[in-house]
Amino acid sequence: MFKNQIKEIVERLKYDASDRDGSNSNSRGLYQYLKDVHVDFTNDAAIGSAKQAIAQGISSLSERQLITIAIEMRNNEVYIGECPNSYCGETIDWEDMNDAIFEEQCSYCCYIEDKRKRA
Ligand SMILES: [Zn+2]
Repeated sequence: MFKNQIKEIVERLKYDASDRDGSNSNSRGLYQYLKDVHVDFTNDAAIGSAKQAIAQGISSLSERQLITIAIEMRNNEVYIGECPNSYCGETIDWEDMNDAIFEEQCSYCCYIEDKRKRA
């Protein structure tokens, strides 16, 4: 389970980093997110890898470096791949990840819930 999630984060980082023109909305905010979360990393290898990713691009990282970042994201609980609501399961964009972790659901589900509360 743990191993699968690390692999999922590594694959996501690689896939979204290759989306240079931002055609896939899930990749939006990736580098900004990395800048925001890496300041709380405690593992030196993960901090170094994140700094290299920010300066030279995620594609400059080795598989091993990507794994150190993924483990740190998992340990710090700063990664959520998809909306946990079983009826939704929407992929969480990097730019929405902070909110999604706090709300424990995606922005669309928050919007629907808000609407229902106000009705
Ligand atoms: Zn949702």
